[in-house]
Amino acid sequence: MNEHQYDVIIVGSGPGGGTMAWRLAQTGKRVLLLERGDYLPRERENWDSQSVFIDARYQATETWYGADGKSFHPGLHYFVGGNSKVYGAVLLRLRERDFDEISHPDGISPAWPVKYDVFEPYYQAAEELYHVHGLRGEDPTEPPSRRGYAYPPISHEPRIQQLFDGLKAEGHHPFHLPVGVLLDEKDGKALPHSACIRCNAFDGYPCLTNGKADAQIICVDPALRAHPNLTLLTSAYVVRLNTDSGGHRVSGVEVVRGGETVSFRADVVVVACGALSSALLMLRSANADHPNGLANASGLVGRNYMRHNNSVLMAVSRTPNPTKFQKTLGLNDFYFGADDWPFPLGHIQMVGKSDAVQIKGEGLPSFLQWFPERPFEWIAEHAVDFWLTSEDLPRHENRIFYDGDRVRLDLRQTNVEAHERLKAKLRQLCDKLELHPHLFDRSLYLGQNIPIGGTAHQAGTLVFGTDPRASVLDTNCQAHGIDNLYVTDASFFPSIGAVNPTLTIIANALRVGDHLAARLQG
Ligand SMILES: Cc1cc2nc3c(=O)[nH]c(=O)nc-3n(C[C@H](O)[C@H](O)[C@H](O)COP(=O)(O)OP(=O)(O)OC[C@H]3O[C@@H](n4cnc5c(N)ncnc54)[C@H](O)[C@@H]3O)c2cc1C
Repeated sequence: MNEHQYDVIIVGSGPGGGTMAWRLAQTGKRVLLLERGDYLPRERENWDSQSVFIDARYQATETWYGADGKSFHPGLHYFVGGNSKVYGAVLLRLRERDFDEISHPDGISPAWPVKYDVFEPYYQAAEELYHVHGLRGEDPTEPPSRRGYAYPPISHEPRIQQLFDGLKAEGHHPFHLPVGVLLDEKDGKALPHSACIRCNAFDGYPCLTNGKADAQIICVDPALRAHPNLTLLTSAYVVRLNTDSGGHRVSGVEVVRGGETVSFRADVVVVACGALSSALLMLRSANADHPNGLANASGLVGRNYMRHNNSVLMAVSRTPNPTKFQKTLGLNDFYFGADDWPFPLGHIQMVGKSDAVQIKGEGLPSFLQWFPERPFEWIAEHAVDFWLTSEDLPRHENRIFYDGDRVRLDLRQTNVEAHERLKAKLRQLCDKLELHPHLFDRSLYLGQNIPIGGTAHQAGTLVFGTDPRASVLDTNCQAHGIDNLYVTDASFFPSIGAVNPTLTIIANALRVGDHLAARLQG
């Protein structure tokens, strides 16, 4: 057989592509996984705040442009495992109602063409595959599930347990955050054999002990070990997809590797470059049959970009907060609204514990002038850090595209009021719980170029649907009109809800993986 001919080619090894490779390798078919990056180096800097957050050691060095012409560096990470190498591994299901149309002050969050009941078994499988530790029954917004989590919830450290108890005493419903982690613990301590050691360098950092359930550790490496029919090529940048005459099949995948251009062929091609890069690949692949970009008859490739309204907020407590593994508590009490607001506000969760280096990197807020001599250490010792997510809406004008040689990302925020109201709710809670009421925003976690550089939760650029005029992909995530082209990153999302997107990406990869396995066997 031609060494460049495969049954399946998958482009991108993040949760969307890595999970697909894991699934399809089991079919025995010849699968080629193409990844533009290399393995993320394991080195001391993995755990160093200065290197990770200030020097952006692992962030892609690309320069993109906003509608105002200003340049920025997107918060992308090109490695085996993709962005999951640095993610916080909070793996939440969308709420059941997120699959239906929901009204917001700025417009409609569109319904999904495939509903929660179809996703449910794949959510379950995704949680089990990615070692999600959690506890059902605490969060009133939780969607129905057939089984409990396979792994027990991560225990709260004392300060977070205090917060948890305080919230409950106020009548709220805090819950144990579902986190994908290779942790085995007893009495709040990682056991000697546990890969995760419950350290303070988890969220936003690569994991030096390989304890984070990322796509490399969970899918790519185990599948490569178990299945010789799976091949991974790193440093393999896919420049474009070529189509046959008529444009109904992808006939070649053009790759630049080590300065050379090589073309690979396969019966099925799955693109999972991340929602922004996948749209760019489609646009780069324009040809005579697809003059506006591959699969772009609808004109929607690159449009409807969503990425959540996210904030990292820090509260300063009188009580010290010596927590190391802080990412254990979530709150969805305002997810679908509040007493004083009939529209969804969003989701609150803990974020990785801030340290003095990160706080210093933010610049010194003015009110800190009257703090003691070494304010950064003091603040870090007393800080309690929250991550807030509100839903943003798919706007036709919010899009990624090529402007000549430049990559341009147009973004006008939606649902800003809901996010501000969510912050106000958290402020009120902090007041009641004796946390310093001055919450202040942190931007380092996602790279310094917030808002537009915050691409962590990118979604929506190749929406799926039943009508080829109003969607790019069909409900199996196959490109309309292109028989062998599929996409399995977050670009298929018609709306994004207000929970972290990755469990849905993984569940969908497993769902589409089942469809492709049947097609390949068939
Ligand atoms: C700091 C941070 C924290 C996060 N925390 C969370 C969290 O707690 N929970 C959560 O749900 N989500 C979180 N996310 C988001 C999460 O990482 C993404 O949702 C997820 O990684 C998306 O998976 P993907 O496979 O679609 O894309 P990616 O992870 O972006 O993977 C795409 C891969 O494709 C490769 N690629 C791109 N273009 C090409 C090309 N042309 N040729 C070959 N390869 C290519 C890239 O190098 C990359 O490896 C976080 C993200 C960041 C940055």
